[in-house]
Amino acid sequence: MFTAFLIKYAEIGVKGKNRYLFENALVQQIKYALKKCDGEFAVRKTDGRIYVDAVSDFDYEDAVSALQKVFGISAICPMVYVEDEGFDKLGKTVVEYIGKVYPDRNKSFKVAARRARKNYPLNSMEINMELGGVILDAYPEMHVDVHNPDILLNIEVRDNIYIYSEIIAGLGGMPVGTGGKAMLLLSGGIDSPVAGWMIAKRGVKIDAVYFHAPPYTSERAKQKVVDLARKVAAYTGPIYLHIINFTDIQLYIYDKCPHDELTIIMRRYMMRIAEHIAKETECLGLITGESIGQVASQTMHSLMATNEVCNLPVYRPLIGFDKMDIVALSEKIDTYETSILPYEDCCTIFVAKHPVTKPNVNIIRKHEHNLDEKIDELVQTALDTDEVIIVK
Ligand code: ATP
Ligand code: MG
Repeated sequence: MFTAFLIKYAEIGVKGKNRYLFENALVQQIKYALKKCDGEFAVRKTDGRIYVDAVSDFDYEDAVSALQKVFGISAICPMVYVEDEGFDKLGKTVVEYIGKVYPDRNKSFKVAARRARKNYPLNSMEINMELGGVILDAYPEMHVDVHNPDILLNIEVRDNIYIYSEIIAGLGGMPVGTGGKAMLLLSGGIDSPVAGWMIAKRGVKIDAVYFHAPPYTSERAKQKVVDLARKVAAYTGPIYLHIINFTDIQLYIYDKCPHDELTIIMRRYMMRIAEHIAKETECLGLITGESIGQVASQTMHSLMATNEVCNLPVYRPLIGFDKMDIVALSEKIDTYETSILPYEDCCTIFVAKHPVTKPNVNIIRKHEHNLDEKIDELVQTALDTDEVIIVK
């Protein structure tokens, strides 16, 4: 029955002079999301609102689930349009609407009319009263409740008349592309995809980097990261995924540094390389999936040691989350099933039995100093052999 959607957006509403930028970005993101759906749609911005009109037959569930993946939408209201062919026609359509949308009519309702077109012969109050009467005549089992109705039937009189009552929650947040770009350190784990999703939700475009260590990590481990990037891209749009071959760097560190410091030193090199790519690709920050105390490399001391090698801000949206909450979020955004596939990621190969939990930055620096110029060459080679996959 529905032929269109009214898109409600929350925070964009308060952006003052820049509001149009946010609205335009949202329109772009909606168009992008709907491209993958069955059916053709027109997205328009009219009267400070965004409407999605179906211009062909379409798959309703498919369209709703695509819109539910767009950041910046607070609510999706499926609508019916009627051309204004007199009040009787409107009354008939409303009765038909309720008949179809609410098979169980043991419900209270309220009509909320808005007359944006002032030359309509009835004013809002009159529309409410008259339509209320028509509905009660058709469905005597329904009753009016103006304070707390089960069904709030919105009638908007514009050039056409719009009818809607269902409100489907959107994700909230800001449209991707309104907040600059950041580089996500994406591993095959549970945490980093969720971290990227959370930052993207605030309007930030995401690129990603994965440190691959063949043959210690398999092609399947790499494919798993590509699959995770694809899951995140369903919300964020295309992700440029940089695959960095980390094997020689890892082996060299393994060879030269105390094993209990391996993870920290490796993490410092990951951050350095990620920052280098980030700066070259106009990213304004790095994103990781770290959370205080989750593992040895994520204590306050360890975080301080990994953080000190970069100048760009490092966003760690999961920093105060318990694992349970991260898992719940990864289930919600549909990355969990992929994240728990068993393929090893590069850190699990080279983990020490007893990694330091309180690394001393001065000692770490000293051991890194032993890596001499050779490490710079290895880093340069890793950067030169960066493989970029555009994940959609
Ligand atoms: P995740 O579940 O995201 O893998 P984790 O709990 O396994 O995180 P660590 O392995 O300590 O934690 O990694 C901390 C963060 O460092 C990750 O969230 C991710 O952002 C980044 N990271 C770790 N390994 C890699 C890798 N191989 N490639 C890219 N980023 C990585
Ligand atoms: Mg991990």
